[in-house]
Amino acid sequence: MIHIASLGYRFGSRVALDGVTFGVAAGELFGLLGPNGSGKSTLLRILTSLRRPSQGEAAIDGCDVASRPAEVRRRLGVAFQSPSLDKKLSVEENMRFQGYLFGMRGRALAERVDELLENFGLQDRRKERAETLSGGLKRRVELAKALLHGPRVLLLDEPSTGLDPAARRDFWEVLGAMRGRDELTVLVATHLMDEAERCDRVALLDQGRLVALGKPGALKDRIGGETVSVETAQPALLAKKIEDRLGLKTRLAGESVRVDSPDAAGTARKLLDAFGAEVQAVRVGRPTLEDVFLTLTGRGLDAGEEEAP
Ligand code: ADP
Ligand code: MG
Repeated sequence: MIHIASLGYRFGSRVALDGVTFGVAAGELFGLLGPNGSGKSTLLRILTSLRRPSQGEAAIDGCDVASRPAEVRRRLGVAFQSPSLDKKLSVEENMRFQGYLFGMRGRALAERVDELLENFGLQDRRKERAETLSGGLKRRVELAKALLHGPRVLLLDEPSTGLDPAARRDFWEVLGAMRGRDELTVLVATHLMDEAERCDRVALLDQGRLVALGKPGALKDRIGGETVSVETAQPALLAKKIEDRLGLKTRLAGESVRVDSPDAAGTARKLLDAFGAEVQAVRVGRPTLEDVFLTLTGRGLDAGEEEAP
């Protein structure tokens, strides 16, 4: 349903996307995971035909984005990072104006608005101005609005930024229900590993390059059994000692030193025996997608640059 081949994009001399290739199947929930500045928003903008690729091609449902932008836009629902509601208008008016943009009118539009407000549990809010809604409800209206014209593909950019944990769960539940109702293909860009964990497949993006692609479980299995995470006052120093004295490979993640091991409990014991005095806490756990990202790139997901202007 989404086809991307050797996609490249440059802002002047700065490379934002560098030869990215992947496909998303119909009905799939696909995640694009990478830190700030890795090129996620640029890729989504190219898919909406807001930007023309410098190199390579992209297509939605067989329609090339550069040469058939109008057909592409009809097939796409989009919820971008910056809020898209008109805050002085009511929920219903926001929905209706979105319909006008897509050439919907009269009874058909009114029925479709009703159906979506119903599905999204927004019926009792329809007369309220957008600015009076909580962050979670606003996001729900944005999602309903994006789906108004019945797109087959939904693009979401950092959908739970600014939402509290309860609103975040609510958002994913509503999205799950929508995916069950219509066959919807969803591409979600995020720098949060727990969002990516919910996806059927994930592409890891680092500095405009695709560094891995697969099911979250399979990506985590690649880096082996379990991860021992050691908290210490001087992570770099301890990492070096662990490597020198125990011959184990380490990685740094914030204030902690990570060691991947098929026998994590045994390794944790060894680390405590050898360096107990320097260790504040030891945790053993399955690796996360952030561990995968760290292993592949040497960087964490928060380590990206600041948001582009
Ligand atoms: P992400 O969404 O993953 O944070 P972006 O696609 O926004 O990444 O940015 C990718 C790269 O392109 C970054 O290096 C960013 O600084 C740069 N970039 C993004 N937008 C612009 C712009 N309008 N002008 C110049 N550089 C930009
Ligand atoms: Mg972005």
